[in-house]
Amino acid sequence: MIDLHVHSCFSDGDLTPEDLVQLAARSEVSALALTDHDTTQGLKPFLAACRATSGTPAAVEGLTGVEISADVPHGSMHILGYLFDPESQPLQRMLERIRTGRDERNLIILRQLRALGMALDEDALHRIAGEGVLGRPHIAQAMVAQGFVTSTSQAFSRFLARGKPGYAERYRPQPEEALRTVREAGGVPVLAHPVSLKVTRSRLVTIVEELVRHGLGGIEAYYPEHAPDVTADLVNTARMFGIVATGGSDFHGQGNPLIRLGRGFGALVVPIEAVEQLRRRAGTP
Ligand code: AMP
Ligand code: ZN
Ligand code: FE
Ligand code: FE
Repeated sequence: MIDLHVHSCFSDGDLTPEDLVQLAARSEVSALALTDHDTTQGLKPFLAACRATSGTPAAVEGLTGVEISADVPHGSMHILGYLFDPESQPLQRMLERIRTGRDERNLIILRQLRALGMALDEDALHRIAGEGVLGRPHIAQAMVAQGFVTSTSQAFSRFLARGKPGYAERYRPQPEEALRTVREAGGVPVLAHPVSLKVTRSRLVTIVEELVRHGLGGIEAYYPEHAPDVTADLVNTARMFGIVATGGSDFHGQGNPLIRLGRGFGALVVPIEAVEQLRRRAGTP
């Protein structure tokens, strides 16, 4: 079993990279990619923990990864990057710019919530986020902790989702820039959970065609929320363009307790060949 989409406490997941590797080893996950939002900070401890398992019966092969939100007019587009050089300066500059954009946005969200009578305790908020990238899921948790809402999903549906009174935009690179930057770092860019684009099947094919022209190397076909016919369709689309059909659980820990590492809701099976196919595409562009 493999899992190519996982978050740690360096973004909005709640396990450390080391704990993720331990969980993978116990769960018979033999290859794992850490794909935190907008940061590669967790990769060093993650890869070290993976290396420490090598040669044991529960060895976990570690892949470098990252997840980047791109700027699209509607729906949301997330680009996963795999097997890049984490030291790449253009990549780190782009991630830094995205994180600065988040800091600016967080201030606006907090100000808007305050104006709505929900002044969040910022120390508590930073304790919730830990040392990782602070995002809306952490703000939602802080709102629950202070009793302003009863659940994080209520925090989103009333205040934090796009179009709601607490929402603010943040800087996102254009899709082409995200693809190019991952490629320049020797990595393989993959379109994450294509259902979040919220477009028809034929529009999706047009979008993928355009992204492939800019270096897209794969589609995340296997994903907990994809029904079998959706996955089959996406596998076909990947085949049509000669790119890799990848997959993962988008595990966040207790943030979404129904999702299990490697297994999603239980039926997820990501083909092991995806790792080798990604490796063949990685390297200098
Ligand atoms: P951010 O990166 O700060 O914009 O937050 C995006 C994250 O918030 C997503 O990756 C989801 O985990 C979470 N999220 C977005 N919309 C919702 C929602 N309607 N309900 C619960 N969580 C959400
Ligand atoms: Zn996340
Ligand atoms: Fe995502
Ligand atoms: Fe994710």
